[in-house]
Amino acid sequence: MQSFSIKKWVPWFLPLVLVFWFFGKKPSEPSVEQVHSTTRLAMGTLVTVSTWGVKGPSEEKAVDRVFTRISQIESLASRQDKSSPVYKINHAPTKKTWPVPEELATIVQKGLEIKKISHGAFDPGLVFLLDLWGFANGVPDVGKIPESQAISSWLENRKNHLEEGIRVEKSPDGTYTLQLDDVSFALDLGAIAKGYALDKAMETMKQAGVANALIIGGGDMVIAGSKGGKPWRIGIQHPRDHDKIMAFSEIVGDMSMATSGDYERFFMVDGERQHHILDPETGRPSRSGLISVSIQAKEGMLADALSTAVFVMGMEKGKAFIEKWEGIEGMLVAENGERWKSVGFKGQWLDGP
Ligand code: AMP
Ligand code: MG
Repeated sequence: MQSFSIKKWVPWFLPLVLVFWFFGKKPSEPSVEQVHSTTRLAMGTLVTVSTWGVKGPSEEKAVDRVFTRISQIESLASRQDKSSPVYKINHAPTKKTWPVPEELATIVQKGLEIKKISHGAFDPGLVFLLDLWGFANGVPDVGKIPESQAISSWLENRKNHLEEGIRVEKSPDGTYTLQLDDVSFALDLGAIAKGYALDKAMETMKQAGVANALIIGGGDMVIAGSKGGKPWRIGIQHPRDHDKIMAFSEIVGDMSMATSGDYERFFMVDGERQHHILDPETGRPSRSGLISVSIQAKEGMLADALSTAVFVMGMEKGKAFIEKWEGIEGMLVAENGERWKSVGFKGQWLDGP
């Protein structure tokens, strides 16, 4: 008999999911039986959908609708799925103007806005660079540092296309088009599409009549309502001690949180960690000093993209950025042990203030 091996389907890095949740049941708390959780593989990671206080077929139906919605977005934004518009655009022999579905236009547009406000720390056009480093398919598939020459020619080319390399336009008839200027620019929405998908997943959940839910995918999550008036409790993984959490949050109401870390996908060369968050200024894995960044925002898409952006910015610029933008809160951890959280961040370090 053929046995099903989860390893075959789940990339090796998945046990290192950044954020997990726990019930932490205390005697006065509602029964955990009222929380129902379903985990499935989606968007290249494990996605867990938890609901509170709904049971049976209505809950199952809502959860199915949520996963269907997630896979709709995945099939638009994935750069591995050969039938996705992103794949087709990225693999076109010449760059030109493409008609794109509105949802994809929305994600790219937001990515370009965040590129602007983050002064290029976030960039949805890093495909070529990510492939060079071997982070094309989530897991590192090269395991060695690329030739400096290849990195410098990408950097040189980028200078010439910094403002306008990728453009999204709305036509008078309401349709959207996307333009890429050059073959070395192509779309990687890996730091933003998951957040958007989780936003839409929660929207679907609410439309299905479920008001209290928590949806977690990799390092991103969206929350709605509560567990019968009690908060959802979330743990944030320790960036260097994966069996431990370093902080926790208790959250009631609508909120999103995303965590970016250098320990998700990486390979080591001469004791140096080569990880999947690239600094577009250097063309190399970000060496900002930060090793974990959690961002809270109303929108999952924003939290997702900004956790990556702030990671690249580093402690000082990252702090200033978070303090400047209303509705954005953050928790930052540096390699040297320095750590900081914004006043409005909902969460506490496990070992003190
Ligand atoms: P996250 O785990 O949300 O921080 O996203 C990391 C993923 O985003 C990587 O696996 C790449 O697909 C992509 N990425 C890496 N560096 C950047 C960057 N500076 N800006 C935007 N996307 C990036
Ligand atoms: Mg992100």
